[in-house]
Amino acid sequence: MPELPEVETTVRYLKKKVRGRTFFDVWSDWKKTVKKPKSFDDFKKELKGKKILNVRRRAKNVLFDLSEGKTLLVHQKMTGHLLVGKWKKERGSWQPPQGPLSDKNNSYIHLIFIFKDGSMMALSDLRKFAKVELWDSDKLKESEGMKGLGPEPLEKDFTFAKFKKQLKGQTRKIKQVLMDPSVIAGIGNIYSDEILWEAKVHPLKKASELSEGELGRIYKAIGKILPLAVKLQGESFSDYRTPLGEKGGYDDERKVYRKEGEKCSRCGGEIKRIKVGGRSAHFCPRCQKI
Ligand SMILES: [Zn+2]
Repeated sequence: MPELPEVETTVRYLKKKVRGRTFFDVWSDWKKTVKKPKSFDDFKKELKGKKILNVRRRAKNVLFDLSEGKTLLVHQKMTGHLLVGKWKKERGSWQPPQGPLSDKNNSYIHLIFIFKDGSMMALSDLRKFAKVELWDSDKLKESEGMKGLGPEPLEKDFTFAKFKKQLKGQTRKIKQVLMDPSVIAGIGNIYSDEILWEAKVHPLKKASELSEGELGRIYKAIGKILPLAVKLQGESFSDYRTPLGEKGGYDDERKVYRKEGEKCSRCGGEIKRIKVGGRSAHFCPRCQKI
């Protein structure tokens, strides 16, 4: 699933590529993706003529602020990713332009936004879990995806004191706590593994039992790993691609995620995979002691 670095990369591209464009039409063969308004035809009608004033991110939500006080929310969920380009309908299916957009990973097109100038923004979504909602901007906070979100870890006001306050009273395992969007927004399975490796903290350690030193190392690791991953435009072993259809560069950087059986690059120990609350955690038992 796209996490903060991937969604941030998406938003940065979209700001450059679609800001200022005006919606003209919407096509879909999986109309259930649009959750609000309930009728897809109403969605189309409401969107038509609205101009994109800004694109921003909150947690893993992509938010398009539109003219006339509307906001379009896209949550890419498991396998969804937004792409920009121009597709052509041939023999009943949308054909991508040559280049990265023709990659198999970008071929699960179930929703296309068509702009007034003929350009397009498409949603490729293999498993079809992505979610699209159109809100009155002043009611956006009522969306399920926007409720109860914790602080943004890349914001300047995400201080060590704030981080500690967020973790206070958390008796769950640190891996689970880091992945909880109500504690900190945007961190999922991949980057929680990477952050804990960087901080030399065992994923099963209870958050409430972490020492000041361990907390400091996790906080520092968040401030190192997430900006690095944004800079490298995210990962690419999942379905995620940038809006140009290209792979991110984080795969070669990662130290533990999906590396079980390989050697730890820091101590030479063997990387293990364990289950934590139904999710996998990858770590090095030699340098991440409980
Ligand atoms: Zn190690």
